[in-house]
Amino acid sequence: MKTGGESPGNFIRKIVQEDLASNRTGGRVVTRFPPEPNGYLHIGHAKAICIDFGIAREFGGKCHLRMDDTNPSKESMEYVEAICRDVKWLGWDWGEDLYFAADYFERMYDVAVDLIRRGKAYVCELSQGEWKEYRGVPTRPGKESPYRNRPIEESLDLFKRMRAGEFPDGSLCLRAKIDMSSPNIHLRDPVLYRIMRARHYRTGDKWCIYPTYDFAHPLEDVFEGVTHSLCTLEFEVHRPLYDWVVEQVNPPIRPMQHEFARLNLSYTVMSKRMLQELVQGGYVKGWDDPRLPTIAGLRRRGCTAAAIRDFAERVGVTKYESLTDIALLEHCMRDDLNKRASRAMAVLRPLKLVIDNYPENAEETFEALNNPEDPSAGARPVPFSRELYIERDDFRENPPPKYHRLAPGREVRLRYAVYVTCTSIIKDADSGEIVEIHANYDPASRGGGTPDGRKVKGTIHWVSARHAVRAEFRLYDRLFMVEEPARAAGEDGDFKKFLNPRSLEVVEGWVEPSLASVPPGSHYQFERLGYFCADSDSAPGRPVFNRTVTLKDTWAKIERSQPD
Ligand code: ATP
Ligand code: MG
Repeated sequence: MKTGGESPGNFIRKIVQEDLASNRTGGRVVTRFPPEPNGYLHIGHAKAICIDFGIAREFGGKCHLRMDDTNPSKESMEYVEAICRDVKWLGWDWGEDLYFAADYFERMYDVAVDLIRRGKAYVCELSQGEWKEYRGVPTRPGKESPYRNRPIEESLDLFKRMRAGEFPDGSLCLRAKIDMSSPNIHLRDPVLYRIMRARHYRTGDKWCIYPTYDFAHPLEDVFEGVTHSLCTLEFEVHRPLYDWVVEQVNPPIRPMQHEFARLNLSYTVMSKRMLQELVQGGYVKGWDDPRLPTIAGLRRRGCTAAAIRDFAERVGVTKYESLTDIALLEHCMRDDLNKRASRAMAVLRPLKLVIDNYPENAEETFEALNNPEDPSAGARPVPFSRELYIERDDFRENPPPKYHRLAPGREVRLRYAVYVTCTSIIKDADSGEIVEIHANYDPASRGGGTPDGRKVKGTIHWVSARHAVRAEFRLYDRLFMVEEPARAAGEDGDFKKFLNPRSLEVVEGWVEPSLASVPPGSHYQFERLGYFCADSDSAPGRPVFNRTVTLKDTWAKIERSQPD
């Protein structure tokens, strides 16, 4: 996928431009984002949100946030609140236009009664099994229900009694009378209402019949004056039914449905059912676990809203299904964090370095730049003393070729500070593990230069042991070991067997003292280690950091290798 410069096309933009040119909608552009509050939003929803709200903003229209809550069994207020929080955090504003499909139940019922009166719908008594059999398959026409032509009065009466709760769940349903021989199976007298005794988080026990998605959705759009109903490709085959329902109520401006390809992201799952399973099964620590592709998880991990919007823009709006490389999302995170994240020094896997020729009780401070990308971010003092922590990985007793960091007899630069040369190693007598290394520093190298102009090849980061603050670091890796866990598992297969057992590693290390009490949500680039974000589990003097993303950018390499 080419992503440099111009973003891929947006065919929906063209459609809206044409509609405005032909005055189909009287100059109005109203879109909606219609999540079902049965889970938290994920990065796929973020794509839809950016399209829905983005198109509205581009054409001076508006976008409604609508809870598509017509299926009570799995919906809840917790999800409604999470959805609102996430859409807002992404930077979009629905203004006054927050709606609930459940608020339309009475109006939907009236439309259904009207359809029955006009001979366009009937109450059917076929069992689920029979109904499926009668419906047939796309290649063969279906069979008409024996109840299809029952008297209108009889259907009206039964529908009223369905609502009144006279019949058990699933025993009767209301069906549209359309065309049992249509090659489009969704037009074969689809179900409009079913009996379902389930408490609704918004309407309580008021209803025991609920409208189906196919009936409810076009009506919601009509009631709200939506002009462009944008959704994902799996609804394409439902469009003739959508249009049929709209035609029945015949509003002055008809909403039109347009479909775009859903976002699929490698090494993760995005269906709410699967995410639900991971959360409820305890495979992750809640909907905002930083390993999940949920908006809440990405936020907690340290991904910014700007990075997600940039990602959505780069993915573009197309009609074909594809798999987006998670490296693209990571690239967008780095791109944004590079501009906004303060630099700081942290040591994740500490090894003590003692500078023998540095006075025992002395200390001094060095100036460190907060962000080389942003001079206005200024500098901060970093304390330095005789005992430091360096990264275990920055020392090798037997350095391999091209290893430019510290080793016996080798000299390196300590970032922002001085040059040190390793003089000796102290090992644990029993295990043989290196527990401490000793070095001498060159006092003439303060501030990075030496009088004789000699160069050193390696620069390593450090923190002063006496001043450093203990910190927890949570290092995340891909949640799954395979690119497409859902596909690899197959229908009804267990996608969880592809979970990466090493998706989370927790280490205890040190950070420079300026980070002792960082507010959760603050972004840092720990030099040479990656971008990190202070977690909400942080306490004063005891920070916890999530690694948002490492510094190595595989996507930038892919991009650079593309011909212009
Ligand atoms: P899921 O398949 O994850 O359970 P859903 O389609 O059931 O999602 P809804 O709450 O109904 O979830 O989705 C709200 C809107 O978000 C719909 O218009 C849907 O088309 C869109 N959407 C859902 N998943 C994606 C995705 N992966 N990419 C783009 N848009 C999506
Ligand atoms: Mg859905």
